Amino acid sequence: MSILLTTLNARYTHASLGLRYLLANMGELQEQTRLQEFVIGAKATEIVERILSYSPKIVGFGIYIWNVEETAKVVAMLKRVAPQVVVVLGGPEVSHETNEQEIVKLADYVITGWGDVTFPKLCGEILHGPKPLMKVHAGVQPPMAEIKLPYSLYSDDDIKNRTLYVEASRGCPFKCEFCLSALDKTAWPFALDNFLAEMESLYQRGARLFKFVDRTFNLNIKTSLKIMQFFLDKLEANPDDPVYAHFELVPDHLPDALKEGIAKFPQGALQFEIGIQSFNPEVQMLVSRKQDNQKAADNIRWLTKQSHAHMHVDLIAGLPGETVDSFAEGFNKLWALEPHEIQFGILKRLRGTPIIRHTQEFGMVYDPYAPYTILANKDIDFSTMQRLVRFARYWDLVANSGRFAHTLPVLLGDAPFQRFMAFSDWLYANTDATHRIALERLVAMVARYLQTQGMGKEEAEALLASDYAGAKPKAAETPAPKRQARRLAA
Ligand code: SF4
Repeated sequence: MSILLTTLNARYTHASLGLRYLLANMGELQEQTRLQEFVIGAKATEIVERILSYSPKIVGFGIYIWNVEETAKVVAMLKRVAPQVVVVLGGPEVSHETNEQEIVKLADYVITGWGDVTFPKLCGEILHGPKPLMKVHAGVQPPMAEIKLPYSLYSDDDIKNRTLYVEASRGCPFKCEFCLSALDKTAWPFALDNFLAEMESLYQRGARLFKFVDRTFNLNIKTSLKIMQFFLDKLEANPDDPVYAHFELVPDHLPDALKEGIAKFPQGALQFEIGIQSFNPEVQMLVSRKQDNQKAADNIRWLTKQSHAHMHVDLIAGLPGETVDSFAEGFNKLWALEPHEIQFGILKRLRGTPIIRHTQEFGMVYDPYAPYTILANKDIDFSTMQRLVRFARYWDLVANSGRFAHTLPVLLGDAPFQRFMAFSDWLYANTDATHRIALERLVAMVARYLQTQGMGKEEAEALLASDYAGAKPKAAETPAPKRQARRLAA
C-alpha cells in the first residue's frame, strides 16, 4: 500500500466526503490507496501508530478548522518517527494564508483548493518522478463531469451508523465576507441524473439520512424540485421506512413551486438550515450579504406555519457594525418567527475570507488560534463577547436541546434576548461552568433562577417537572410551542 488518505473528523458519525472524493478520483493509483479516518480527541501516538501500520509512502491529510491544531501534532510526530513518509496536506484550512501556517512548515507538500485532480497527479509524481519541485500546488478545478462521484465508497457500516454527506453542487454565488464560499463567485452543479442515480444506489443499500452540503440548495429551483421529488417518491413508496434529508437554504428565495414541494413532506422528513446571520441592513451591507429581510422573515414564517420542515436558523454575533442591542433586536425578531432552533454563532475569521478588510476600522480582535473566534470589536468589548459566548452555550443546553419545552417561554417572556442574557449571567455566576452541567443540576438551577424572578418554589418545580418528566403542563396555561419539537439534527 502506497498512499493513505486520512483526516480527524469532528465526530465518529461524520464520514468525510472530501476523502472519499479523493479516493474515487485516484485513477490507476486507487488500488494502492486506503482511507483511514480518526476522530479529534484521539491520542496523537495512537493515530501515528495506526497510520504507520499501513506502511504508507504518502499520507494525505484533510485539514479543516476543527482539526488543524491536533493534526499539526500528528504530522510533527509522524515526521519525527518516520521522516521518509511524504506528507501531503489539503483542505480549506491550508488553502489560504498557506505559507504562514505551522502545519505547512511540517509537511512536504500542500494542495490548495480542489484536490480531485491534483492530488492523484502529485502522488504519481512523488512515487514515480519527476520529483515535484514546488511545495504548494494550486488545485486544478476540472469540469464537473470529469469528477468521479464518491458515493459507492460509503461502506455498509457508514450507511448504517454515520451521517452521509452528499452534494449536488459545489460553490456559492454570494459573497458574504465572513464565509469561505464567498471566494467561489459561482456555484457548479454536478450532472443531476448521475447524482440522483448515486442517491438511488445509496437508498437501495439502506441509506435513510442524507445531509446535503450544497451551500445554497434553493439556488436553481428546477434542480431543487427534482431532488425533493426523489425523496417524496421514496416517502410515498415506503412510508413505514422514511427517508430524511437536510438542506441549507437561502431564506429570501422560496418561490411558490418550491413551497408546494416542501409542503408535501411529512413530519420528520425534512430539515432546513437557514442562514439569517444578521437582520441589520447596515451590517449586511458591510459584509456584502444580500438579503431581503422582509422576504426572509415571511418565508421563515411560512415554513413554520405551513410545512413540517424542522428549521435551524443561524445568527452570528460579532459582525462588524453589529452592537449588542442590534443583535438583540435581530434575535428577538427571529425568535418571534418560531424556528425550531436558533443557532447562535460567534464570528470566526476563517482564513482567506474578505472580512479582514474591516479589522482596523471596526477594531476586530480575533483569537490567533483555530477556530479564530472574535474576542472583541469596537462595539463589543472582550468581557461582553464572553457573555455572548456563554449565552450561545447555554442557549444550546436550554433552548436548542428541546428539554425545556414548557419552561422556556416562561423564562424568555416578551424580551427573549435580554431575559436569557440575564439568566445566562446568573447561571454562570452560580455555577462557574459552561460545560459539564448535568441535566439534573441544570433543571435545579433553572428552577432556582425562576424563583429569583418571583415565581413560587412549588410553581417553578412543577413547571420544570412538566419538562423533565415529559409531562404536559395544564393545556390552557402553556401551549407547547412548535419549536420544542423533537430535535432532528444528525
Ligand atoms: S454565507 Fe451562505 S450565502 Fe453567503 S457566501 Fe456563504 S454559503 Fe454563500
